[in-house]
Amino acid sequence: MKIGILALQGDFIEHVQILKSLGVEAVEIRKPAQLKDLDALVIPGGESTTFGKLAAEFGLLEPIREMCETGKPVWGTCAGMIFLAKDVGRPQPLLGVMDVRVKRNAFGRQTESFEQDLDVPELAKVENGSEPDRPFHAIFIRAPWIESVGRGVKVLATLEDGTIVAARQGNLLATSFHPELTKDTRFHRYFLERVGKTA
Ligand code: GLN
Repeated sequence: MKIGILALQGDFIEHVQILKSLGVEAVEIRKPAQLKDLDALVIPGGESTTFGKLAAEFGLLEPIREMCETGKPVWGTCAGMIFLAKDVGRPQPLLGVMDVRVKRNAFGRQTESFEQDLDVPELAKVENGSEPDRPFHAIFIRAPWIESVGRGVKVLATLEDGTIVAARQGNLLATSFHPELTKDTRFHRYFLERVGKTA
């Protein structure tokens, strides 16, 4: 299995390290030609406006959209989630493939960063039955949230007040937070094992 990690900016190294530790080939992606033989793509955290600007400049927008639309698993964490969204309420270059409305920097300046244990029932599906209901420790850094989801989008996790912070639309996965900054590999395994399959 060969997984690409968009490496224009942001915390791509952390995704590469976790994926390598899980025994898959993980490669940094900066050019359209590198997308061709990938099985899946991860878009890391960082700054979504920078991703948009650089991806447009390097001709990556169309080929990544095509990957999303042809059913290849694509996962965006934080800025990556913003980049996947159809609507962020302001003009900026987006892939625009996931039917979610996202609010950037949604938690405001006071609480720019925080950590929260989340209940994520879907994670019970990943192999390694030893950790069925353990909460996922989620790290939020100037994080976005999902304001609304379209039909066909499944909500995977919310905060206690109902704020949506993880969702999946078929082959597309989005998290407001950064599983790549923790030692818990369940989200990465969920992406590798489940996303892109119909289950
Ligand atoms: N605030 C950033 C943005 O709007 C996202 C922050 C992150 O990826 N940690 O793009």
